[in-house]
Amino acid sequence: MDKEQLKKRVCEAIRRNFAETQALGHSIFAEPELGFKEVKTSAKVKAAFDALGIAHEDGWGHTGVKARLKGANSTRTIALLGELDAIVCRKHEASDPVTGAAHCCGHNVQIANVLAVARALKETGAMELLGGDVVFFAVPAEEYVEIDYRSGLRKEGKLRFLGGKQQIIAEGGFDDVDLAMMMHVNSTKNPNGDFTVGASSNGFVGKLIEYHGRAAHAAGCPEEGINALNAAMLGVMGVNAIRETFRDSDCVRFHPIINAGGDLVNVIPDYVKMESYCRAANVEALAHYNSAINRALRAGGAALGAECVISDLPGYLPLRPEPHFRDVLRANAHEIFGDANTVEGEHSAGSTDMGDVSHLMPVVHPWVGCVSGTLHGADYKVFDEETAYVKSPEVLAMTIIDLLWDGAEAADIICREFKPVFTKETYVKFLEDLTSGK
Ligand SMILES: [Zn+2]
Ligand SMILES: [Zn+2]
Repeated sequence: MDKEQLKKRVCEAIRRNFAETQALGHSIFAEPELGFKEVKTSAKVKAAFDALGIAHEDGWGHTGVKARLKGANSTRTIALLGELDAIVCRKHEASDPVTGAAHCCGHNVQIANVLAVARALKETGAMELLGGDVVFFAVPAEEYVEIDYRSGLRKEGKLRFLGGKQQIIAEGGFDDVDLAMMMHVNSTKNPNGDFTVGASSNGFVGKLIEYHGRAAHAAGCPEEGINALNAAMLGVMGVNAIRETFRDSDCVRFHPIINAGGDLVNVIPDYVKMESYCRAANVEALAHYNSAINRALRAGGAALGAECVISDLPGYLPLRPEPHFRDVLRANAHEIFGDANTVEGEHSAGSTDMGDVSHLMPVVHPWVGCVSGTLHGADYKVFDEETAYVKSPEVLAMTIIDLLWDGAEAADIICREFKPVFTKETYVKFLEDLTSGK
């Protein structure tokens, strides 16, 4: 059998298994869970691997599940990642009534894709013809949320880092992986669905911001108090005042929420807690704007005489997709989606912990357009299920075959030419130094 025949056979299997793939995607969609708490989702992944007779390890990053199919040789290992977690979007019709969690980022599609590719490679006996291994990795907590909760886990020693892939890198889960790939769904107006090969994206610093004031009767003796809410509002206004200094090319984003903004309406708020990111396109810009934003936030406290305490936490690194890996992906996207529906993509202001992985090994991170409405929004909906559950895993599987065919020669060339920014050890030290303020 030649490579093209194998690709055809694997794609036929993916199409044949559409209903099963879709059912897993829908089942995960129906029970959304937030990061590091994806217990039911993780159980579904394990059951799906069990049904395929594929051995797996669990507990990576608390809820992550890792499985491996061995090739004829194990020259190189490529990991296909899918994320387990949801976000909070209470107004989405499928949100969890208690937690507000909803799969408005489509991670359920990612997991279904991982299992679709695993199943097709297994069923067709493809691995016997490939010169490398494939790791199927369901990973937790891509969405960097509940910063307060997660930094609590960190203080208790239950978590080293706040993002799932960061945590798993530190645990050694990527030690036996040479390249990694994954997809995210995307909004599109294209009725046929589309495929964005994917460019770079922002990195960020995570921030917890606290204002300490003094309580007093809000009407009887406000002059005795120090209003922490006014200090926080002024801090945010200060950041708004320096937005005109943010260079467009640095793609800066600051979007705080208020977690605690006072307890009782007739008491001057003595404590306000906010969380945010400072996002930017590169590490130098991140350092520069984060310090300017901190200055403005502190000025809010200074104006009121409130104390402003800022904790900067290691966020995600900018995403740097590997160009040759992306060439292989693009060629397969052209085949499945057609030239007109394959898009290059521009720098994204969003962030992902795949950015961290991209500093250690070659990665690609495409966007599959199959969603109507807004990502992370209440009107989010997968309208093109064939694109989500058939065409998308076809491109991923074909890319794996290209990389691992003929003794994994293509994967080997990409890995040998790749210059990592960090080893695991220097990466972990870099993040830890960030937190300790070194
Ligand atoms: Zn996501
Ligand atoms: Zn998201």
